[in-house]
Amino acid sequence: MQAQDITTADIRQQALEIQRAIESAQALARQIAATEDYMRRLAAAKRAITVNAPDPKKAEEIREIAARALLTDPVAARAVLDVSAPTTLSRPITITLRDDKSCWTGGQTAVLANGQRVCGITVSVMPHTGKNTTYEEAYQYMLSNCLLHEVMGHGVGQMRCGEAYNNMPRWVKEGTSVLNDSAETQARRYRELQKLLAKDGKLPFPTEALGGIAEYPDNKSEFYSESMALSAMLVNRLTERFGPEKQKGDYVTLVLYFGLVTKEQGMRAALAQYYEKLGIKNVAELELLLRTWIEEK
Ligand SMILES: [Zn+2]
Repeated sequence: MQAQDITTADIRQQALEIQRAIESAQALARQIAATEDYMRRLAAAKRAITVNAPDPKKAEEIREIAARALLTDPVAARAVLDVSAPTTLSRPITITLRDDKSCWTGGQTAVLANGQRVCGITVSVMPHTGKNTTYEEAYQYMLSNCLLHEVMGHGVGQMRCGEAYNNMPRWVKEGTSVLNDSAETQARRYRELQKLLAKDGKLPFPTEALGGIAEYPDNKSEFYSESMALSAMLVNRLTERFGPEKQKGDYVTLVLYFGLVTKEQGMRAALAQYYEKLGIKNVAELELLLRTWIEEK
């Protein structure tokens, strides 16, 4: 092209192309910065987690899964990363992979707290090997269920509510923790409830009585399932009423405090106290909402 052939339109076209190239380079730079920031946060979160496991590969795998999960929750991320946050962990989260077949549970969480300040979380997870299960299968099950149930459920629950978490009834502590189990496990629990409803039209426990259940009942699995369904239904109700998924953590906190009132004053009083938030008039409406929630799953 000769110089005299260049038109204003050509120059405009070239300028537009340059502008597009700059914009795409800027977008790429932002993406790189976000990735670098995430990697930096991930490395910091991993430093806050100590894993005791005989196999170093498994220890690293557990640390990675826990760190990534903690970063998805604003409260947990702040506690792990921000030294000025009120819930800052002055001691790392310790996760121990135990091989204790005598223990009936897949995991346990103990939290060291000083008022609102969570100082340390100790999580034990243990794969159970049954007749038809190899250790490796049990370990994989533990990774996708027990690990985040303990860390993101009980551990972060304590970060959200401090000492109040210790006084909360089992239904809400287990119910909100099961929401971190795998999708398969949650689906299996809904099927369990659907079968019971189809059989005799009854939920395993009268919803009104849940707050008063202090110890694990004999039908522990059904108790976990109903607690999960109720917690999920309430979180969903808050999300529908007040907005987007990004606030999910806040809704879990609200449900935990609602649970506390169900223990201290009963389900009726809790519904009255949370009427503005939940908009549920009475226990009968709560039961109906819960049944519908389970049946539509
Ligand atoms: Zn639990």
